[in-house]
Amino acid sequence: MRQLSTGDMLRAAVKAGTPVGLEAKAVMERGELVSDEIVSALIGEELDAMGPTVGAIFDGYPRTAAQAESLDAILAGRGRTLDRVIELAVDEDALVERITGRFTCANCGKGYHDKYEQPKVAGVCDKCGSTEFKRRPDDNEETVRTRMAEYRAKTAPILPIYDARGIVSRVDGMAAMDEVTAAIEGIMAA
Ligand code: AMP
Repeated sequence: MRQLSTGDMLRAAVKAGTPVGLEAKAVMERGELVSDEIVSALIGEELDAMGPTVGAIFDGYPRTAAQAESLDAILAGRGRTLDRVIELAVDEDALVERITGRFTCANCGKGYHDKYEQPKVAGVCDKCGSTEFKRRPDDNEETVRTRMAEYRAKTAPILPIYDARGIVSRVDGMAAMDEVTAAIEGIMAA
């Protein structure tokens, strides 16, 4: 099983300075959505690179009705189906606090949070010992609020499409971290 995150793919493109990265950078910094054509092309390319036998978890995709339509076509063209959609429901103020406080080890990628998970030794990564950490440029409050407005306007409306197919599972994202993990693992195992 592979996690396919369009956000990760776009951040890699920005870092590498590819044409896609150059187009996406400012849009991402504002918290708006990158074009449907770009993200759907990235997903199609990744699925092809993975080959037909590996399963995929789409993270942050689809985010618009047009992307949901493209995903249907992408999967159908490759003889694949969408088994489940997981909606993680989180209160918006809690989400702002979680996102604006998070940071990662610049070396190994381990995640931390200003309030909920500081490194055991201040300034030193628990996992690899690195002293370099980083924050996403779009994890500031103003941009996070824009990202949420985009979600409400363009992403939430696609849930009914999947609801009508009977494939949506809802997880309470306000529950404790291990409960959320267990709920998602239960859905995936079913
Ligand atoms: P994420 O890592 O999922 O939080 O995405 C970070 C940013 O990348 C978003 O705020 C968008 O600017 C862009 N992005 C990621 N996935 C998509 C997508 N499916 N459609 C449009 N823009 C996306």
